[in-house]
Amino acid sequence: MLSAVLVEPGRLEVEEVPEPEPGPGEVVLRVQSALTCTADLRAYRLGLKAPGPLGHEFSGQVWRVGADVRGFREGDAVMTAHVAPCGECFLCSRGQGNLCENLEAGMAVGGFAEFVRVGAPIVRQNMFLKPASLSYAEAAFLEPLASVVQGLGSIPIDPDDTVIILGCGTVGLLCLACLQALERSPRVLVVGRGPERLELARTMGAELVIDAETEPVVDLVRERTAGLGAQVVMDCAGQPESWAQMLDLASRGSHILLFGGCPGALPVDLDTTRLHYDQIALVGTSHFTPRAVRSARDLLVGHRVRPAPILSGSFPLRQISQAFGRLDRGEGTKFEIVPQSTEASGR
Ligand SMILES: [Zn+2]
Ligand SMILES: [Zn+2]
Repeated sequence: MLSAVLVEPGRLEVEEVPEPEPGPGEVVLRVQSALTCTADLRAYRLGLKAPGPLGHEFSGQVWRVGADVRGFREGDAVMTAHVAPCGECFLCSRGQGNLCENLEAGMAVGGFAEFVRVGAPIVRQNMFLKPASLSYAEAAFLEPLASVVQGLGSIPIDPDDTVIILGCGTVGLLCLACLQALERSPRVLVVGRGPERLELARTMGAELVIDAETEPVVDLVRERTAGLGAQVVMDCAGQPESWAQMLDLASRGSHILLFGGCPGALPVDLDTTRLHYDQIALVGTSHFTPRAVRSARDLLVGHRVRPAPILSGSFPLRQISQAFGRLDRGEGTKFEIVPQSTEASGR
């Protein structure tokens, strides 16, 4: 089969590699849609070979089924996350399956290929039939959306709150979409860069969109919040600059949710007086429990979150290096990679 192979930093080639075989409980999917992610871009730039070949956001059809698989047959259209908890370790027993010690053991990666193997814990817990009303590209958003659902579920959000989203890449925009999908939405202000993304945040329902490059972010937020700051600040940028700014935007008694991982465990200066006396909670978030994956599935299947506008374009697998070239130059937010040729997949 054809698969994208990272040959060296900044060089992806499409090569012929052996097709995966399903073990017990596993399935092999025929990938219909795979999405680029900032984690892939980081690996591409640095030439990272771990945790495996690129591509962890994908959807497709069940191609081959291993022994003891229940609920799926060859030909089923499916959507899946790329990890699932073991259910047996200490953190799993505490209901923190998103932090499972064995989360990466059966990880399904290598989505930029014609076929990909999905491990048994994932098939059991985090893979679902995809209805025809949902496109394969939208279904491939299951993984990033599950991460967002997990994070949002870890802090209180009141309809009367003001929420600030720092960063309007995929995660920031998915946060915005999830907040808009709530029965009673809080007001959402988005701080970001790049005219296209800022416009997207505006059309997706942000009450105010602030250009971090040209506008006085802290002043504008104070003005909009009667000088209080926001009750929820979400960092979806993962830059030390945005972390340093979070406390200036947060009200007393607020929660700061940390979605964006800063590169390489960088130290950040934080005002301890504000954290302590203003009772500001810093909350990290990583991966997702099966419950969050099911909620994300429901949001997509019910079309309550419509992620398609986040995609900046689509490339056939053979042209994947063009997609990464554009991302590397800061163009676009997220691209779809389509491994099957048009006739073969019937798209
Ligand atoms: Zn991702
Ligand atoms: Zn576990």
